[in-house]
Amino acid sequence: MQLEFFGAAGEVTGSCHILRVGNHQVLFDCGLIQGSRKQEQRNYRAFPFDPKSIDAVVLSHAHIDHSGRLPLLVKRGYSGPIHAQNATTDLARILLQDSASLNQRDAENENRRRARKGLAAIDPLYTVDDANAALRLLKGYRYGEPIEIVSGVTVCFRDAGHIMGSAIVEIFLSDGSVQRKIVFGGDLGQYDAPILNDPTTINDADLVLMESTYGGRSHRDRALTEAEIGEVIADAAAHAGNILIPAFAVGRSQEVLYMLGKHFEEWDLARWRVFLDSPLAIEASKIYWDHPHLYDDEATKLRRRIDEMPKLENLHLTPSVAESQVINRVRNGALIIAGSGMCNGGRILHHLKHNAWRPECHVIIVGYQAKGSLGRRLVDGNRFVKIHGETIRIAATVHTVGGLSAHGDQGDLARWYGGIENKPPVFLVHGEPSAADAFKEKLQSEFQSEVSLTKPGLTVDLKTLSPISSLIRKG
Ligand SMILES: [Zn+2]
Repeated sequence: MQLEFFGAAGEVTGSCHILRVGNHQVLFDCGLIQGSRKQEQRNYRAFPFDPKSIDAVVLSHAHIDHSGRLPLLVKRGYSGPIHAQNATTDLARILLQDSASLNQRDAENENRRRARKGLAAIDPLYTVDDANAALRLLKGYRYGEPIEIVSGVTVCFRDAGHIMGSAIVEIFLSDGSVQRKIVFGGDLGQYDAPILNDPTTINDADLVLMESTYGGRSHRDRALTEAEIGEVIADAAAHAGNILIPAFAVGRSQEVLYMLGKHFEEWDLARWRVFLDSPLAIEASKIYWDHPHLYDDEATKLRRRIDEMPKLENLHLTPSVAESQVINRVRNGALIIAGSGMCNGGRILHHLKHNAWRPECHVIIVGYQAKGSLGRRLVDGNRFVKIHGETIRIAATVHTVGGLSAHGDQGDLARWYGGIENKPPVFLVHGEPSAADAFKEKLQSEFQSEVSLTKPGLTVDLKTLSPISSLIRKG
């Protein structure tokens, strides 16, 4: 009975852990490593296990840093089931196909360069066919439904409040005489975030794996952030220009639409035409609106009153390129939500090219912008940027509003852990070392907990843990 860490151990992407019970091996997540080109090259390496030897995969949520190497796993021989919450199976479908298309396109571009240099062509990491093969292995479940995935391992998904379908996974293990319960926290959402429920409180565990992405910091107050977005929109109305909001397709786009619906009258949005200009975000939004039973109380009430989510009569969905190009002719009164979230590609680039040089326009940055991204250069106030090889002067007003994040901050993470009655030992995964260190300190000082950082290859013998029952007896 063993747990071994492979990915997202000491870093933030490439989530992957392996559990061994008896003769069975179960993989938890199989995420893509994301970052610089050099880091992403690591995705091509062999898995440190034989994919054919894995009996089952459990997926915490659809984000690519948790699911993105599943097609590769299947390409390299895995053929068992992939268990996930129902909404996760829907989102994984669009995200993995999109990821595969990007991989194919990247390889084609690279091969054009290589051909000119007389170098041999490379294969994409995986293709759309590989993604579809992985998608055929998905099995969907409701939250709270116990699933015996192999003999001796039963899992149960609990709402993590991070994106639609995201799960905390309770894992019940039995190896003859020994029983253990471990909890894989996945990615944990913020408390009181819109649309989604708060992360589910877990009563007890022998061991917990927790993310620590924002373990070292506090998010800005959400109400202040919403008020600021309202002010920017009100201010922009006087300037007779357009508003651009670069947004991630899954989560942030729906959150922005929800916010616009909720404050429709207050923010005088009837004067704007709202465009959701991203095929992926349109698909993701449909999945969000298709799972109303997963909404929190506020979203449920809003929906009941207006029997549509969100209330935006002036929302235009523009999946096709032709529809998207028509937006370029709108000089005034367009509020455009488009990807990519960090302006590294996608349709937002066209909108920036058409609007960012106009002083009457506004850009609202609502998401994290990594170093090196175009979005980061806008946040940093660069006056000139390159878009599709053309230098563009930034004359539009760029507003950066913090506070919207799909990840809980230090307070949220500690609150969730504090809900576990027996305060079990913690292994921190999915976080930069500085964030993990800060969160370790927080848990130690607040709960006197036993906290360990992880690194690839670290193995924990689960039999040596004190079982919950003995801890409770001691307490
Ligand atoms: Zn995530």
